Amino acid sequence: MIHDYDIGVIGGGPAGSTAASYLARAGLSVAVFESEFFPREHVGESLVPATTPVLLEIGAMEKIEAAGFPRKYGAAWTSANADGVDPLGFQVHDHGLGAADVLFNERDQLGVDRDYTFHVDRGRFDHILLKHAESLGAKVFSGVRVRGVDFADPARPLLRVGLGGTTAEVAVRMVVDASGRGTLLGRQLKVKVPDPVFNQYAVHSWFEGLDREALANDENQAEYIFIHFLPLSDTWVWQIPITDTITSVGVVTQKARFREGKDDLEGFFWDSVASRPLLHDALKNTVRVRPFKAEGDYSYGMTKVCDDGMVMVGDAARFVDPIFSSGVSVAMNSARLACADIIAAAQAGDFGAGRFENYVTKLRRGVSSWYEFISIYYRLNILFTAFVQDPRYRIDVLKLLQGDVYDEQEPAALTAMREFIAAVEADPGHLWHPLLGRMKVSLSSRALF
Ligand SMILES: Cc1cc2nc3c(=O)[nH]c(=O)nc-3n(C[C@H](O)[C@H](O)[C@H](O)COP(=O)(O)OP(=O)(O)OC[C@H]3O[C@@H](n4cnc5c(N)ncnc54)[C@H](O)[C@@H]3O)c2cc1C
Repeated sequence: MIHDYDIGVIGGGPAGSTAASYLARAGLSVAVFESEFFPREHVGESLVPATTPVLLEIGAMEKIEAAGFPRKYGAAWTSANADGVDPLGFQVHDHGLGAADVLFNERDQLGVDRDYTFHVDRGRFDHILLKHAESLGAKVFSGVRVRGVDFADPARPLLRVGLGGTTAEVAVRMVVDASGRGTLLGRQLKVKVPDPVFNQYAVHSWFEGLDREALANDENQAEYIFIHFLPLSDTWVWQIPITDTITSVGVVTQKARFREGKDDLEGFFWDSVASRPLLHDALKNTVRVRPFKAEGDYSYGMTKVCDDGMVMVGDAARFVDPIFSSGVSVAMNSARLACADIIAAAQAGDFGAGRFENYVTKLRRGVSSWYEFISIYYRLNILFTAFVQDPRYRIDVLKLLQGDVYDEQEPAALTAMREFIAAVEADPGHLWHPLLGRMKVSLSSRALF
């Protein structure tokens, strides 16, 4: 049987280029089809330490270090309550932003050899990774869109790729769908399911000259990611350093609230930020260097993430709200886990769905922990900050924040948080009862694949 390549990868984002790197290193012939020409802009700029072992393993870490991205040593959350006044347990600092924070070096993490990760300009980061995959032997086709895959013969999937005005067919042994939120195969195979609970939208841009030190608890935190809770239901702001002087800032909110402002992104952004005066004033002294951009409708799962001759990785498999900066880490680790199975399948000469069970089990475990953690945050975000500050749970919560979620059963802090929420829900007189958020997750929404 004639094949053009062993593996066809759809999409050259972090999931696609990580998969292509692992597969090319293992001696398989790999073609990556990327519809854009890199560098291209992309949301999702703050990494977690679970990306480090993957960058080291594929040999890309030196290139990422050399690019000089800001180092991310930790993360901080500031209170939604009036700046400087926090009756609900945040530490209130001199300058008036009540905050909780963590440093990654408080907990050792297997395979992580440094106490920081990075904030990245995704245009540059994704380009470095894609060129890295190419340097390992993957063939990269840029500006080439995959329009669909013909699985009539599962042993010889045919990728239909757009070349100018024409369509060509490329025969492979198996397909890796890394098409991101484009979810090419999820849509084609009709296995994509919108998340029943999370329906968040974001409006974001880059700002020159934000005084990050003034917003931090001390100068060492100027390079942290800051998540600012807003006193608006289920709404928060990210603050991510991109360079010494440029900061990415985005507002995340619920669909209903976004709908009201979607024709005026700028007005929506400033109205939201105005609910936190210190942040608002600091941002007003900056210059916006990119147009405002909206990201919508972004949480979903799949009823299956693999089949004969096919696996989905990264956002092509599942996307959950980005509150804990999990996306790129899930993209790279899902590619890592899937490739272990793909390489074994190639050795066995069998790319049947049963070959990818290990991948599915580990991905489900990791994504379920993230999903639960994010659900708890939205249900009662004061609980999250209370647990971060509680010595009994801090290290366990940090494990989640590091993205260390694939190799064990559910972290104990999640179980404790779930029990705590059940108690608050059951007691209308509880001090925190009025703080319960509107988004409530049922068991069935957790099991999306
Ligand atoms: C509002 C928001 C904030 C976020 N913040 C963070 C954050 O702080 N940290 C974090 O880690 N993550 C964050 N994320 C998530 C992060 O953006 C994604 O999880 C990550 O980019 C997934 O990588 P990927 O490779 O799976 O997909 P992508 O990075 O989206 O890459 C997919 C690639 O496939 C290409 N493609 C699509 N369709 C086709 C096709 N048919 N043919 C060929 N090519 C195709 C696209 O051009 C794209 O380059 C955020 C997401 C959102 C929506």
